[in-house]
Amino acid sequence: MKIDKLRVGVIGVGHLGEYHVQKYRNIPMVDLVGIVDANPERADMIGQSYDTRIFQGHKELLKEVDAVSLVVPTTVHYEVAKDVLAQGIHLLIEKPITYKLEPANTLVAMAQEKNLVLQVGLVERFNPAVVKMESILDRPVFIEAQRMNKFTLRGTDADVVLDLMIHDLDIILHIVNSEIKELRAVGMSVTTDKTDIANARIIFENGTVATLTASRVSDKTIRKTRIFQPDCYMEVDFFKRKLSIARLGDVAGDPLKLAQIKAENETFPDSDPLADEIKSFVYAVNNGREPVVSGHDGRKALKVSLDIIKLIKKGSKNF
Ligand code: NAD
Repeated sequence: MKIDKLRVGVIGVGHLGEYHVQKYRNIPMVDLVGIVDANPERADMIGQSYDTRIFQGHKELLKEVDAVSLVVPTTVHYEVAKDVLAQGIHLLIEKPITYKLEPANTLVAMAQEKNLVLQVGLVERFNPAVVKMESILDRPVFIEAQRMNKFTLRGTDADVVLDLMIHDLDIILHIVNSEIKELRAVGMSVTTDKTDIANARIIFENGTVATLTASRVSDKTIRKTRIFQPDCYMEVDFFKRKLSIARLGDVAGDPLKLAQIKAENETFPDSDPLADEIKSFVYAVNNGREPVVSGHDGRKALKVSLDIIKLIKKGSKNF
């Protein structure tokens, strides 16, 4: 029996878009129909390297595919994404979904109305250390997230909150799954005219507290989240793809309890979160499932990011 392959395309094949092309190429049940890029030299280079068709504009590509990855700069996400959804094509849109809330609302509503998969590229959800952490997580009481990068020009068209912190926000909003009761934030610009270092504290209605720090002017790369719950402490190292767990064992007869803390570590060196994200998108499309990171999730992470940016702006008058 012949099984029809899912026909996909990639719009925007710059730094990250090339990886999307690579990952689709390696999925047997996918037919990579072609690519589009506003830069003709870049389009030629990627088209030739991956032996795929080069389309002159996204509207041409959309006539021949069932699903696309949209990996253009965030400033143009909305104008292309609305054409994709209007054409009835499933969409994996890179993060952040948009820079403003209104267009994100429109994209989420369009996908819902047309029953299309809209997945947002918040790729850290596919980090195997996060996947494993989620399977153990029970009732987080306190969460501490740190994401520090060395300075690079890439991503500086956005505030560090939308560039880096949004990954941790998405994970925290997903695992806590409670409304935000109180939000505090401070931040400052260091090398760009936008916020380069930010700190936020979230108190959720269910009592969980999360603090997040993001910096893109650090001298080292740190991407860690620590989660405390009554019987277990977990540390996710996103960079090393490592999960460390300390659990309280049987404490009967041990008044100090400390001797009963058991530590375990698990690393996932051969994992490929972007490949898993893309496979998961293909699975959602083929099986009519809600994607792991939905448009709604992407919109929620954007909304809290924008609230944090607003608080930082307001607070900066005090410094
Ligand atoms: P990039 O500048 O390297 O690539 C963007 C490409 O899009 C360029 O080749 C450009 O010519 C092309 N382009 C611009 N407008 C276009 C249009 N209308 N139609 C077709 N092509 C167009 O940028 P990048 O670093 O690859 O980032 C792309 C997106 O991915 C951004 O939204 C960014 O925020 C996101 N991103 C996400 C992560 C993550 O961790 N998930 C990491 C990096 C970038």
